Amino acid sequence: MKATNSGYTLSCIMCGKVNDERKTSTYCTECGGVLDIEYNEARKEIQYPLEEIKPDPLKNHFTSLKKLKRLSEKYGAELYGKLEFENPTGCFKDRGSYIEVQKALELGTDAICLASTGNMAASVAAYACYFKIPCFVFVPEKAPEVKLAQATIFDATIIKIKGDFMECEKLCREFAKSGNYYLAGDYVFRQEGQKSFCYELYDQGMTDFDYIFVPIGAGTNFAAIYKGYKELKAAGQIDKIPHFVAVQPEQHSPVVEGIFKKDKMVKEHVNTMADAVAVGDPLDFYKVLRGIEETDGLAFTATENELLDSMKEMTMEEGHFTEPACAIPLATFKNNLDTFKGKKCLFVLTGTGLKSAHIVAKYSLSSPVLPANLERIQQYIESGFIDMQKESWGQTRNTGFENVNMDEGHMKLYNEYVNNINRKGKTLKEEEIRVLRSLVYNEDADLDYPVEVLDYKLTMRKHGLVSAAVKLRINGGEEVISLDQGVGPMDAILTAIKAETDSFLPLEVIDHEVEILSPDTDSLVIVTVTLEKEGHTFTSKGASPDTLEALIQAFLKGLAVANKALTV
Ligand SMILES: *Cc1c(COP(=O)(O)O)cnc(C)c1O
Ligand SMILES: [Zn+2]
Repeated sequence: MKATNSGYTLSCIMCGKVNDERKTSTYCTECGGVLDIEYNEARKEIQYPLEEIKPDPLKNHFTSLKKLKRLSEKYGAELYGKLEFENPTGCFKDRGSYIEVQKALELGTDAICLASTGNMAASVAAYACYFKIPCFVFVPEKAPEVKLAQATIFDATIIKIKGDFMECEKLCREFAKSGNYYLAGDYVFRQEGQKSFCYELYDQGMTDFDYIFVPIGAGTNFAAIYKGYKELKAAGQIDKIPHFVAVQPEQHSPVVEGIFKKDKMVKEHVNTMADAVAVGDPLDFYKVLRGIEETDGLAFTATENELLDSMKEMTMEEGHFTEPACAIPLATFKNNLDTFKGKKCLFVLTGTGLKSAHIVAKYSLSSPVLPANLERIQQYIESGFIDMQKESWGQTRNTGFENVNMDEGHMKLYNEYVNNINRKGKTLKEEEIRVLRSLVYNEDADLDYPVEVLDYKLTMRKHGLVSAAVKLRINGGEEVISLDQGVGPMDAILTAIKAETDSFLPLEVIDHEVEILSPDTDSLVIVTVTLEKEGHTFTSKGASPDTLEALIQAFLKGLAVANKALTV
C-alpha cells in the first residue's frame, strides 16, 4: 500500500476554522470542536498527512477479511469479519498509532503522552518505542496490570493516578501543555491512520457490503472507516458506500442514545464488561452522527448477557476469541435478523480476547483444585460439576448447583459455612445457596490455615481514621492482639492483621471486590481479595452476611493458599 499526499487542510467540523497543526493536533483553537483533514485532491492511493511516510515497522500483512461460513449458514446472511485483532498489538488502534507517532516526530516534540486504560496505551507505546520517542501513559489506579503489561514491555512510562479515566484524561491534557509533548489519543491524525482499514478492503477485493457493523467507544474508528470509504468513492475506486451500523453495550450507550436524540451525550459512570468501548465522553460523536445520517445507517445496543453469548458463539463457531466489544456486532445482528436476513454484512472485530481473559474468568465457574489422585479426578468428572460449569457461561449465578455431588471434604466445608451463617440468624435464599456452593466447590478442601482470627473490635472516629483491635493466633502459638488504624473498617482490619502476618508471610493486597447478592440488608456478601508476593498472585473469596467477616475469611484463605504454594 503506497502512501502519498496532495497537501491538506486541517479544519474544524463545528465552525469550519482552518487550524494550524503546529498549534493544535487535537481540538479547534477557536471553538474546541474536533478537527478533520481534507486533501487537496482525491487520489487512488491512500493519503497520509505526513511529509515523509515511513513503512509501518511492525505490521507485516493485512488483517484477514474472512467469510464467517458457519454463522452465515446459521443465520441466512452473508457474514464477513475483518480480523483487526491480527494487528501487531492485537487491536486496530495500531493503524492510528503508526501515523500519530510519526506526526509527533515530524512536529519535533520531545515525548508523547496519552490517557488510556488498555489497548491505546499498548499500541502507542509499541510505535513510540520503535520510533524511539518517550511515551507517558496516564492510567487510573484500578487499571488491571494485564492491560499495562504490553505498555510496560514497550518501555512506556506508566503514571498511575488516584482517580478514574476522565481524571487521567484531564491531567494528561494539562501535562501535554507543560512541555513540548504530543498529546496522543482519539484525535484527527489517528483517524487518518485508521482509515487504512478501507484501503485494505479495497486491495482484498471486497468493499461492497450492505452493512458494516462498528463497535463504538469514542467513535474514532467509525469516523475513520467512513472517511476511508468516502475517499475511495471520491477517487472513483468504488461507487457504493455501505450502510453504517453503530453498536454499543446497552449498559453504556451514549453514542447510540445520542444518535436518536441527534445530540452529543456524556456519561460519567461507565459500567460494561466491554471496557474497550467504555468511553464516557465520545469525542467523535458528531462524525458518527454524520456517518449514520449520510449512509442511512442504523444504531443498536446489546445487553451484557448477549455480549457473553455472542463472544462464546464467535469462538465456538468460527474459532475467534475476541474482546467483549467485538461481540456487539454479532449480538446486535442477531437481535435484528429481520433487517439483516440475506444481506452482506461486515463485522469489525476490533481486538483480541487474550487481553480479556479476566472477563472469561469472571463470568465462568473456575475449575476446583483437585488432589493429585486419579480416583478423585474420576469422582470430579462424574460429579455433574463440569456440565454445570459449561452451562453456567455468562449466567454463573442462575444455574442450578443442587445436583452437584460434593465430596466429603467440600461437603464439610459447605456445612461449616452454612452453620456459621445460620448462627447469625440468617437463612440462606436459593440464589445465595447456589453462589455459596460454587464458591465452596472452587476451594481447596484440604487447606491448612496458619492464621486464625479469634475476635476483633473497631472504633470509629467521627472525622478520622478507624481503629481496629484484632485478636489472632499464628501457627498455633500464643494469642496476640494487634492494634492498627485504617481509612475505613476494611482497611483498619486488614492493616491490623497484616501487621502480625507480614512478619512470617508478607503479602500485598492488590485488589479487593465486594459483591452484595441481594438488596436485603442481611444479604450474603462475597468478598474477593487478590494477594501478591514476588509476582505470584492469589485470589480467594469469603462469604458471610457480614462484610468484614467475609473479608477476613478471604484474606486468611488467600494467605493459606499462598503459604501452601510458596512453601512447597
Ligand atoms: C478502542 C477500541 C474500540 C473503540 O474504538 P473507538 O475508536 O474509541 O470508537 C473498540 N474495540 C476495541 C477492541 C478497542 O480497543
Ligand atoms: Zn471550531
